[in-house]
Amino acid sequence: MTSLANLLDFDLDGLAAFCDQLEEKRFRAVQLFRWIHQRGESDFSRMSDLAKSLREKLVNVACVQALPVLAQRESADGTIKWLFDVGGGNAVEAVFIPEDGRGTLCVSSQAGCAVGCRFCSTGRQGFSRNLRTSEIVAQLWFAEHFLRQHLHRDERVISNVVMMGMGEPLQNYSMLVPALRSFLDDHGYGLSRRRVTVSTSGVVPMIDRLAADCPVALAVSLHAPNDALRDELVPLNRKYPIAEVLDTCLRYLRRAPRDFITFEYCMLDGVNDQDEHARELVQLMRSHAGQGIPCKFNLIPFNPFMASGLTCSSAARVQAFARILSDAGIVTTVRKTRGDDIDAACGQLAGNVRDRTRAAQRMAQWRGVEHTAQHARRTIAVSHAGAITGTPSVAQEH
Ligand code: SF4
Repeated sequence: MTSLANLLDFDLDGLAAFCDQLEEKRFRAVQLFRWIHQRGESDFSRMSDLAKSLREKLVNVACVQALPVLAQRESADGTIKWLFDVGGGNAVEAVFIPEDGRGTLCVSSQAGCAVGCRFCSTGRQGFSRNLRTSEIVAQLWFAEHFLRQHLHRDERVISNVVMMGMGEPLQNYSMLVPALRSFLDDHGYGLSRRRVTVSTSGVVPMIDRLAADCPVALAVSLHAPNDALRDELVPLNRKYPIAEVLDTCLRYLRRAPRDFITFEYCMLDGVNDQDEHARELVQLMRSHAGQGIPCKFNLIPFNPFMASGLTCSSAARVQAFARILSDAGIVTTVRKTRGDDIDAACGQLAGNVRDRTRAAQRMAQWRGVEHTAQHARRTIAVSHAGAITGTPSVAQEH
């Protein structure tokens, strides 16, 4: 039996090529794409303006296959985290963060991660596999259409997407780019390039390719002002040291939708948070390549996890560090921690589940817990196939 093509794997050009094989014109692909992404429809029989002959063809060759939802938790601050089953004992997470005037979805690109940053719980769990395009897109597809129903909204809920979940997105480049194109496409989610951010630990050749293929906003996980320290915190630095990463950032800015690069900096007590580190960063950003780097800094309070051996800088230290950068003219923000009560903060994604040695047992355990919760409290109204099956009132777990 031939397997059905999952249409979430295709950007619009890919879907047009697929339709061409079925001897269907491009405008049919556009209609189909709009049904899937704008209306969240997965049942071909309900795509009422598609020719009946096309709907009959599609049933035999294609599907719109979401990811099974293992769990859904809502924080007291409105943050919602979904845990998706990607098979083989692996789970990935997406996190919705509502803020005034915008809704951001943090999306995963890999099950696990090979980069192994010291402060990251995903990195500590090792690498399992790259996600397919459909598995990346399915996170937004599900979240957007679930939230519209949950919040009783007709218009778009998710205004920003950040590729900052599990994985190094630029180490899954071929699957990432079609997903980004679906996010940006006016017939898909219609997000502007400024509102889609790829966050990387600094995969230099792929940053250059992204500039050429699909230049969205770029964030770089820096975390240290010099190579000696960054080698320890972000092992990829040994391959692509800071100077090379910054050179690439300058090239990227020629094509970028924003006129600055965002640098993320996780604040680790006594490791990278001293005044001299801040001053070294200022010097680096002002003088690199004789011209400096237009940039913003996002300081991230570290979320401790078991066995990391690291602790978060104090609030006073974070503020002092931020002040040195700000006083030097670098726009600096301190990230608010969100969703702490549901382990949704960055670096903790799936950390409670994707312990490689016990993943299958824990996933089974989560399934059991959520199953019980659904019955006891009439809470999560999502089916195992990812479709919304009833009134979506979300579990509050405290
Ligand atoms: S911070 Fe990002 S690149 Fe580093 S290990 Fe975690 S997921 Fe991978």
